[in-house]
Amino acid sequence: MQEKERAARRLSVLLFRSAEELFGANRANDFLLSALEKREDFGAGGEVAAEKLSPEERKRFAAGLIRKLHDDFGADFTEKKLSSFLEHLKREFPEKSISDEVMPLIPVGFLEGERLKFLSKEELEERVLEKTAELREINEHLEETIKERTEELRRIVGEQERAAHLLVRRDLELTRANERLRRMDEIKSGFISVVAHQLRTPLSGIKWTLNLVLNGELGFLAEEQRAFLLKANESNDRMIALVNDMLGADRIESGKVRYSFRAVNLLDLADAVLFELSPQALARGVSVRFASRPKSFPLVHGDGEQLRAVFQNLLDNSIKYSRPQGTIQVGFYPRAEEIEVSIQDDGIGIPREQQKNIFDRFFRAQNAIKAETEGSGLGLFIVRSIVERHGGRIWFESEEGKGVTFHFTVPVERGAPSGGAAAPRA
Ligand code: ADP
Repeated sequence: MQEKERAARRLSVLLFRSAEELFGANRANDFLLSALEKREDFGAGGEVAAEKLSPEERKRFAAGLIRKLHDDFGADFTEKKLSSFLEHLKREFPEKSISDEVMPLIPVGFLEGERLKFLSKEELEERVLEKTAELREINEHLEETIKERTEELRRIVGEQERAAHLLVRRDLELTRANERLRRMDEIKSGFISVVAHQLRTPLSGIKWTLNLVLNGELGFLAEEQRAFLLKANESNDRMIALVNDMLGADRIESGKVRYSFRAVNLLDLADAVLFELSPQALARGVSVRFASRPKSFPLVHGDGEQLRAVFQNLLDNSIKYSRPQGTIQVGFYPRAEEIEVSIQDDGIGIPREQQKNIFDRFFRAQNAIKAETEGSGLGLFIVRSIVERHGGRIWFESEEGKGVTFHFTVPVERGAPSGGAAAPRA
């Protein structure tokens, strides 16, 4: 019995020496102790102890140490080490001892090539059968997976084809809808332009006639007649303003507006417009103040008539939408490249959810419609177009019920002298 175990004992010693060499004497002893599951110091006698291990302990020791070699030095190193031990043992012991005693100590996965050499014909056949069954299973699983994936791919391709068809159809529908919208827009613009032009002449005729009558050129007017005719004249003026706005917006849309740029004094423009609007302001009890009015600042590069329309629209709005007895504050802020103008009122303000539409053509906010003020919703559209054509920006802040502050900028005239500010008016 003792004799028969010699090859296995020899392997234990080889493993122990190798552990001593690689990890040091103390660690080699530790491996041995953990295989024996006890605490006993072997001192220098570790090799002797390794030789005396029982078959069970030897199995634990070999498995533990081989796992440690594998973890610390890798599979290749461990395989090479075990092969060299085996060569050693083959020189000392018969094949039978190696197959019966040594190979069972080597964990599965190591020295597999060698292990096969020691298998009997029956064992080999059994291995081949096992492997064949394993391969068949893998193959079946693979076929199944390929079938599933092919099916999935077919489904995805089908879905993509359907989506592509749908997209092409939608694209076509959208193109047609767009074309229809564009045509409708053209028809609408054409209609507005024709109507506005047609209205202009009779409205001017009415104005001319009314003025004639109001000036007393066609005879004396009783007070009441005069009052009614003045009302008619006012309404006619509003109509003329509306028609002019419509024509202005139409010219912007069709790119027909001509600008003639020169050096312009913004303060003079604002003063002139404020003067014109003072009857309206007075009628509503609205006062106008200057939040900032520098003594002098640069002239801007612009078209006087168009910039006048900007002041006209913004100031008219701030009077129209202000509270009775409200205050409007106008500020001029010159900077190196541009002048910023701000016009602030404390009126009805613009509801938050409608602020994004405020520069759209014909748009009027709900609270403005409710307040029963007159308006076309064209003023801000025209104003923005003019400011942007000058290379400036326009924006506003507002809280419903608290008022609006509009700001716009106009680039300064390069190399122009400072524009003298007129004396403060308010
Ligand atoms: P409108 O002729 O209706 O005044 P605008 O284009 O000048 O047309 O203005 C568009 C809309 O913007 C107005 O109908 C109103 O809802 C809102 N708005 C413009 N300015 C003011 C303001 N100062 N205060 C409150 N709302 C304003």
